[in-house]
Amino acid sequence: MREKPLLTIIVPCYNEEEVLAETMKQLGTILQDMKEKMMIQEASDLLFVDDGSKDRTWEIIEIASEQQPYINGVKLSRNFGHQNALLAGMKTAEGRADCIISIDSDLQDDVNVIPDFVEKYREGYEVVYGIRDERKTDTRFKRNSAHLFYSMMGKFGIHLIPDHADYRLLGRMALQEMNLFPENNIFLRGIVPLIGFKSEKVYYHRKERFAGESKYPLKKMLAFAADGLTSFSVAPIRLVTGLGGLMFVIAIIIGIYTFVQHLSGTAENGWSSLMLSIWVIGGVQMVSLGVVGEYIGRIYSEVKHRPRFIVEKDSYDER
Ligand code: UDP
Ligand code: MG
Repeated sequence: MREKPLLTIIVPCYNEEEVLAETMKQLGTILQDMKEKMMIQEASDLLFVDDGSKDRTWEIIEIASEQQPYINGVKLSRNFGHQNALLAGMKTAEGRADCIISIDSDLQDDVNVIPDFVEKYREGYEVVYGIRDERKTDTRFKRNSAHLFYSMMGKFGIHLIPDHADYRLLGRMALQEMNLFPENNIFLRGIVPLIGFKSEKVYYHRKERFAGESKYPLKKMLAFAADGLTSFSVAPIRLVTGLGGLMFVIAIIIGIYTFVQHLSGTAENGWSSLMLSIWVIGGVQMVSLGVVGEYIGRIYSEVKHRPRFIVEKDSYDER
């Protein structure tokens, strides 16, 4: 069993004035409760990250942080998006907290499982994923389509944890490694499984938003999905190469066909040469594009400067 940790709960907020008071109340209660039960250290806190809100969000955070010692805030200079707001919180907590939990500010994720997260951490897990279990009550169609999505992403080489969003606990080690992924378009959900370490899942029921409306309109959601795909996979580039190859094969078939027509004398003058050049040149162009794409893909994965390995333990440590 690990020592009781210093926990920081990170809450990204974008125009959340309607829910914030309630969120502070519920998270505050849970936090005090865990302190009384000696599960976490007295200095454990809530860290609200204001992601450039245009409403009273920051005011609320500022006032609360003056009144309550366990409430802290970070204000970003403009709207950087959910993932970056989370990252800002994680960077701020790094070095101070033994573990962090990230949770949305809208109370959709059940706050009552937070003690379970901490419990798992103390049992030695470095990463704890919050998993929605309402799929049990979902229609079969919804369940199947979600599973199809996860298995397709898997085929692209992106291994996501099914039914997990950004409700998770990270221990100090995981947090440090996480902050070593310096890419700009970060997709945390895809990165966390990459860092490894001992991980565990906690199931919870996802509710409706407590108040206000979703800050993720369809446009942002599509951009998010595209980010996820392109920052983890060169599969789209491979697709072009594949198409080129396919065109080449078609070119050969059409070539034979054209040749036969030419020999049998049924072809119009000039038709054969035109037909051949269209397909051969097309195929060559496609393959070349794919080759160029491969190199760009490589440059792309190099410039991300992701760590090549992550050490969990070594025997030098203990000496
Ligand atoms: N959020 C943020 N920056 C943004 C958009 C959203 O910090 O640009 C926060 C938001 O305040 C909330 C969390 O990210 O705490 C998830 O957003 P939301 O609940 O609107 O998304 P949904 O649950 O509808 O997918
Ligand atoms: Mg939400």
